Amino acid sequence: MKLHSVPPRPLHADTLLTRLADRALPIEQAILPHTDPPWREQVRQTGWQPDALGSYCDRCGAKVGPHELDDLGCSHCRGTRPPWNQIVRLAPYEEPMLDWIHAVKFTRWGTLGRQLGQALGGSLIEAGLDPSRTIITPMPTTWRRRIARGIDHAAEIAQGLAGGINAPMIRLLTRDHRPSQRAVAPSARKHNVAQAFHLKAPLNLRGWDLVVVDDVCTTGATLKAACRAARALHPDMLWAAVLAVSDDHARRARRADPALRRHRPTPEPHPDTP
Ligand SMILES: [Zn+2]
Repeated sequence: MKLHSVPPRPLHADTLLTRLADRALPIEQAILPHTDPPWREQVRQTGWQPDALGSYCDRCGAKVGPHELDDLGCSHCRGTRPPWNQIVRLAPYEEPMLDWIHAVKFTRWGTLGRQLGQALGGSLIEAGLDPSRTIITPMPTTWRRRIARGIDHAAEIAQGLAGGINAPMIRLLTRDHRPSQRAVAPSARKHNVAQAFHLKAPLNLRGWDLVVVDDVCTTGATLKAACRAARALHPDMLWAAVLAVSDDHARRARRADPALRRHRPTPEPHPDTP
């Protein structure tokens, strides 16, 4: 019997519903961002607050419990030397921050990126940053990725941060095109970004502090590589500032909960997108 002559099996109601749900999912993903309430309203509804200083390690950004932190860092980073002097984060990489970051990146919601950047500026000031002697620089992206995404999300965040604390934002770094960090195994990410970052100009930032801004720090490989390149500018103090750090417990929660893994890029821009 030829394959195409096999009569189709009658569809069971459950199967039919599953198929309909599968078809509906992309539609839902495209529509959801458009129905999201404004960020400040979401903050009010969720009761979200930025992480307090001391609730995470200021050397590696990992969440720490009471008495876990000393002058040499935490159990995640003791014995290592990060290329920055201090790292500031807003939240762990889990909901609601995970949703917000995905909305900025994948629905090109620039306004949200700038609002999150502004909040990150508040945390930097609380951590002791002096905006009068500080330059903000975004994690650079390649033109290929910027065109593919339709947004330079790190620049939106950096712009909001710089505007919020009244400091200049200058693009000081460039980046070679390499495979996306998400496409390579975590163990290969350090190698993937090694030597990928370069200075736009050989400036000397003595007398200035420099803040390198990105959305997420997962393995830290990208942020470290960018900050190593930024060190050559000789700032007095080098800060790394990220919206979220992927804590071990947040990583485990994402692996365990399929609902947190369903986020996929959607080409539909947020209505705020210029
Ligand atoms: Zn640490």
